[in-house]
Amino acid sequence: AEELLLRSEKLSAIGELAAGVAHEIRNPLTTLKGFTAFLMEAETDYKKQLYLKLLLEEIERINFIVGEFMVLAKPQAIELKMKPLIPIIERVRTFLKSEMNLHNVSILLDVHDETIEVECEENQMKQVFLNILKNAIEAMPDGGNIHIEVEVKGDSVEIIVRDEGTGIPNEIIKKIGDPFFSTKETGNGLGMMVCFTIIKNHHGSMVIDSKVNEGTMIRITLPYTS
Ligand code: ADP
Ligand code: MG
Repeated sequence: AEELLLRSEKLSAIGELAAGVAHEIRNPLTTLKGFTAFLMEAETDYKKQLYLKLLLEEIERINFIVGEFMVLAKPQAIELKMKPLIPIIERVRTFLKSEMNLHNVSILLDVHDETIEVECEENQMKQVFLNILKNAIEAMPDGGNIHIEVEVKGDSVEIIVRDEGTGIPNEIIKKIGDPFFSTKETGNGLGMMVCFTIIKNHHGSMVIDSKVNEGTMIRITLPYTS
């Protein structure tokens, strides 16, 4: 009977995951469909260019979602390459521009060295910043600033992301990163789990520090070789 229970638990976890994938991909697909219809009707090159740009953004969104679920799939060997870190963060910030405008949030980047490189799988690293920054934006319903600091400290690179959001009660911090743990009505509770998995695969660490009503700080440490 115990085994049966385990099996049904597994099945419901799969069901939840599948529903999550389907739901998250359907939204950008709907947008994609709408813009494609607009594109077909567009009469000027200017309008065509505009719709193509929007199509591309939605495709990138779907790509991010698929990438996220791939991290959670069977462990895969990832290929780490030396890549400049700052452009990765800047790319994610650009990607989040409409969410930032919508929620009145600014992301401020404080960098001591623009040329810092880390050994990483670029798409996975983007995924980490995307999830962390999205959470930070979602934690600031009245808007505010997110500060990102990047600094080399000996043989590691430290990336600190600070928000001025709702903060997280102590008893909740422990649960963050557990599969499907979410305090949000529409959250899937996979973002932070994905972040922890990716950072671990990069031989780094991630810690969360937070004060209710003041904000949250996420510190990522990655190995650095100069
Ligand atoms: P989701 O965003 O779908 O809820 P996540 O795994 O990204 O799932 O985050 C899990 C939970 O961690 C969130 O529901 C929220 O309670 C908490 N959390 C994560 N980041 C922050 C943050 N910056 N500020 C406040 N709460 C956060
Ligand atoms: Mg999230």
